[in-house]
Amino acid sequence: MSNSCVIKVSPATLKKMAQSYQTNLKSKTPPYAEFAAKVGSTTITAYTSGKVMFQGGQALAEAAKWDPSASTEKKAAKKTSQTNSLPADFASWAAVGSDEVGNGSYLGPVIVCAAYVEPSQMPLLKELGVRDSKELTDQQIRAIAADLEHVIQYRKLVVTPEKYNQIQPNYNVNRMKVALHNQAIYLLLQDLAPVKPQGILIDQFTPESNYRKYLAQEKDQVTENLYFATKGEQYHLAVAAASIICRTSFLDALDEASRELGFTVPSGAGPKSDLAAAKILKRGGMDLLNKYAKLHFANTEKAKKKL
Ligand code: MN
Repeated sequence: MSNSCVIKVSPATLKKMAQSYQTNLKSKTPPYAEFAAKVGSTTITAYTSGKVMFQGGQALAEAAKWDPSASTEKKAAKKTSQTNSLPADFASWAAVGSDEVGNGSYLGPVIVCAAYVEPSQMPLLKELGVRDSKELTDQQIRAIAADLEHVIQYRKLVVTPEKYNQIQPNYNVNRMKVALHNQAIYLLLQDLAPVKPQGILIDQFTPESNYRKYLAQEKDQVTENLYFATKGEQYHLAVAAASIICRTSFLDALDEASRELGFTVPSGAGPKSDLAAAKILKRGGMDLLNKYAKLHFANTEKAKKKL
């Protein structure tokens, strides 16, 4: 893949960038883009969301002018993709893909899903709209997931906050994720037998060496044909499908929590989460919060202070 980099900037910076690249603007702007410019052989595309993509030429150096961390981030990303490069035709393999959701959200469960997709299913999956869930609305994600349940084989594991709070003091987060991915993959492989996927792609959350280190401590280890890639959903529909199933399950869990509590339980780990947690604490103390929140997050202390 060519030299490219994406940074996220504030609206103010975006404005400054538009001014700075005024003399380099391209005549055509892609859909949803704020502006597109070309400096030397580097193409710069800025989106209203504040995401700015730099491609080709001096992409990194150009991005670093606006976000000094861009160059170091890119180096780290390059390392992982180099050590774990996928076969060129991987997208057309019969593969298991696995992903997780909820890990960065203070409230709600962690969901891991492993899904199997073979080439004969790919046209249908594309027809159903399966792609990177970050490009889909929650409503679209739910509709696709409802269809997927009848189309592909998958295994999903749900770790409720209560369970998470039990495990977390003894397992660090990455070790927990490894255990969950491995378990979902292991169960799915059993369902599929005697069919064997050509490869297993894990949406990468830790270096492969780290994954394998934690894997060594698990039972029912799946060790062969493992591939790792960040943004795995871009490399195989199985990861995209797994991600959509996880996300739907996570949204359902937040909805259920909202119904139980009588107010909206937000995802993420921002001020809204602190506020929701403070309400829960007020109603039922730590015992109640334990049912809804990942207690080791800094949000717990912030919520206590709000009381
Ligand atoms: Mn992921």
